Amino acid sequence: MTTMTHDFALALHGGAGVVAGRDYATTEKHLRELAEDCRNWLAEGRSALDVVEHAVEQLEISGLYVAGRGSAPNSSGYVELDASIMDGHSRAAGAVAALRDFVSPVKVARGVMEKTPHVLLAGTGAGIFAKTNQFAAVDNPAGYYTLPVGVTTDDIQDISHGTVGAAALDTSGHLAAATSTGGTFGKLEGRIGDTPLIGPGTWADDNIAISCTGTGEHIIRAGGAAAIAFRYRSGITLTDAVAEMLDEVKRLGGDAGVIAITRDGEIAMPYNSEGMKRASVSTSSALHVATFR
Ligand code: ASP
Repeated sequence: MTTMTHDFALALHGGAGVVAGRDYATTEKHLRELAEDCRNWLAEGRSALDVVEHAVEQLEISGLYVAGRGSAPNSSGYVELDASIMDGHSRAAGAVAALRDFVSPVKVARGVMEKTPHVLLAGTGAGIFAKTNQFAAVDNPAGYYTLPVGVTTDDIQDISHGTVGAAALDTSGHLAAATSTGGTFGKLEGRIGDTPLIGPGTWADDNIAISCTGTGEHIIRAGGAAAIAFRYRSGITLTDAVAEMLDEVKRLGGDAGVIAITRDGEIAMPYNSEGMKRASVSTSSALHVATFR
């Protein structure tokens, strides 16, 4: 029997909430190493789903981005975590919102996908699920959370948001995407953005895998990742499909960035914010890492 081996592709982002002139050398180095690691996973034949979960977990635990360990506290001073993951071929999806004090929200999101009949668990229920299923908890929140790269205590309101995400195409031709965030600094308790919402924040099907970052309220109202996927499915080019959604975000008063990979291995990583921490690599394209243009 002949085994078909498909080309693979990977895209990562560390959020669109960056400020021109800040030094992002640390996050660029981290994204480069992580993209190399994920490229090896894909070359070994690991599934896109495993790769996006692994990538987002590493981004979460690094403390370098506004997700996981680097998450933003809400207006009451504590961290609420949002994450989601979607498998394109099966359309299975899982998510958590306003989850408190677990090391890897994306792993809990995958747990929701695989161990419950639901897609999204929020708040207390998400915490009970994570605890019952023995996901690693943050035992000492006061000593765990840290300011991510590029953010200082003086300008927390300026750097109002950040997220991490991954999209991948594996050697079986399957796509997956995942996204995780601490949301926006100073958000109201219980505020949920686009990130844990399957559709706006994360989308994967057999054509395309997408993770969004940016001002969540505007991304939700512009339709986000699924709005790109549906445009692409209708025959619009990837570039135009992404640009139309980003233009809507802008028109509504926000800014955003997107990573997207198609079943053919085409990668798009546009943004209309000042920059977006990002990395990509594929069978046919060299490793690329950047923050600004
Ligand atoms: N989209 C995230 C949120 O609104 C923030 C970000 O991506 O920067 O929670």
